[in-house]
Amino acid sequence: MTAKKQQQPQELTVEQKLQHLYELQQIDTAIDKIRTLRGELPLEVQDLEDEIAGLETRVQNLKTDIAEADKGIVQKKQEISNSEQLIKKYSEQLDNVRNNREFDALNKEVEFQKLEIELQQKRIREHTRVKSEKEEALAEATRQYEEKKNDLNAKKDELDDIIKETQKEEEELLEKSKETAESIEERLLIAYEKIRKNARNGLAVVTVDRDSCGGCFNNIPPQRQLDIRSRKKIIVCEYCGRILIDKYICDYDGSMQKADLAAALEASSKKGRRAKKTEEVKEETA
Ligand SMILES: [Zn+2]
Repeated sequence: MTAKKQQQPQELTVEQKLQHLYELQQIDTAIDKIRTLRGELPLEVQDLEDEIAGLETRVQNLKTDIAEADKGIVQKKQEISNSEQLIKKYSEQLDNVRNNREFDALNKEVEFQKLEIELQQKRIREHTRVKSEKEEALAEATRQYEEKKNDLNAKKDELDDIIKETQKEEEELLEKSKETAESIEERLLIAYEKIRKNARNGLAVVTVDRDSCGGCFNNIPPQRQLDIRSRKKIIVCEYCGRILIDKYICDYDGSMQKADLAAALEASSKKGRRAKKTEEVKEETA
């Protein structure tokens, strides 16, 4: 870092320019990640709040339905009691009838009131059934409501923690980004910002990975890959315009290259073992 600061951006070699660009990209990507993470949590909180509001309405509606059923039951009971009183009244009148016509008429009234009572009893059973269904639904909605409410509180706490934690991290990264940007010449920095702004994933500087551009995944011809590895020119992807770099450009101590080599050796020896095994199997079956 100190060596970079002593040099003016214009005096840097292409390789050094690319290294600074890649470092800047890595810092900015880390900042993007923090912002994405922080951006998603509020959405989750919002979703939960919407769900809770929905459940609140549901609980309220169910309570209203239950109250309606109760009201219905009370009303029907009152009607039954009215009918019973009428039957009592008619029965008393029956004791003092003067003719058959009056007798028949009173009997008819009694029969009618008895039917009324049956009907009201049926209504009461219906209301009771509806009420118990609604009560079950209410218990379930209340349970869900409590659960979501707990989820929401946990998410809000998590969000607060993340905001606190990441705020500090983000400030440090922003400071580092500013510092690194100062070591890059203006023309290059403007290009970097412009590409970054237009790229959906915020990547302006990408490595070549499996013969492809790390940004748009289009194939890069071998000659171009050689040019990129030679680090003598700033090369952009002809498809997406991103700045292409050799993936080991910031591997100052060679540890990354060493690890990759070891992994490749391991993979090829495994392959060898597998090939040998296949041969053995072939011999056995032959
Ligand atoms: Zn590309």
